[in-house]
Amino acid sequence: MTASVSPEKEGLKNILADRVALVTGSGRGIGKAIATVLAQHGAKIVISDINVETSDATAEEMVKAGFQAVSCPANVTNTESIDKMVESAMEKFGQIDILVNNAGITRDNLLLKMSEEHWQAVIDTNLTSAFKVTQPIVKIMSKQRYGRIINIASTTGVHGNFGQCNYAAAKAGLIGFTKTVALEYAKRNITCNAVAPGFIDTDMTKALGEKIINSFVEKIPAGRMGTPDDIARAVLFFAGLGDYVTGTVMEVNGGLYT
Ligand code: NDP
Repeated sequence: MTASVSPEKEGLKNILADRVALVTGSGRGIGKAIATVLAQHGAKIVISDINVETSDATAEEMVKAGFQAVSCPANVTNTESIDKMVESAMEKFGQIDILVNNAGITRDNLLLKMSEEHWQAVIDTNLTSAFKVTQPIVKIMSKQRYGRIINIASTTGVHGNFGQCNYAAAKAGLIGFTKTVALEYAKRNITCNAVAPGFIDTDMTKALGEKIINSFVEKIPAGRMGTPDDIARAVLFFAGLGDYVTGTVMEVNGGLYT
């Protein structure tokens, strides 16, 4: 069979025209970069963050830049808040084609020093949130017979990391969730994939301090931290090009596989 590229995909600029993308935790950091790159490729954007101020400001910034965007703030650990987010997004745009489960937190400590509270907060925000957000949205995608779900995992979920047993467990769980949703919804033209970032320059990693950051960077074959845009471009692939790719995990880590 000869390979074919549909006309609307020949130019990548408008690859997401007529698509609506909802990105959780998109008030800043990687989520904001993902939302921006998806908008630059034609998608209408639902910005959603627990922080109402950054959520509204990011949506406003995007509208000023000429994109179609709306702010639907939500706490991804709270079902009522998620329901409101989905309802407002549907009221505004009438469809949700792309979901990026990006919101996440860290509460690092060694196993023996880890409090149950910090264990649970990380599981709730990084793993259970994906279940709670994806459930109502996959219903919409099923009716549409179209959906692209991208979960932001972490290399820590694949390889583990000192001081992050809660985070590693949550992100590994997210990868298992990804593979299962992929199986259950492939026949409905819904793909579900994960992007596993390595060490990315955001507020989350800035909090580690210069000494720790430098010691990590020394180990990265590419010789630098990743940028939020590096992650956004991987998400763009799954959102707009990878029609036959589902249940997979793309590590975006500058070559650091430990
Ligand atoms: P940031 O801390 O910079 O941003 C996270 C965003 O998520 C913030 O806007 C935050 O809001 C929001 N958020 C936190 N909790 C909730 C919640 N309950 N409901 C809704 N939104 C929430 O993180 P990054 O941009 O660095 O990380 C984004 C994703 O990428 C996360 O899933 C993270 O685990 C993952 N990742 C990041 C890596 C890195 O090196 N930076 C490496 C591997 C994975 P607020 O402003 O209120 O805090």
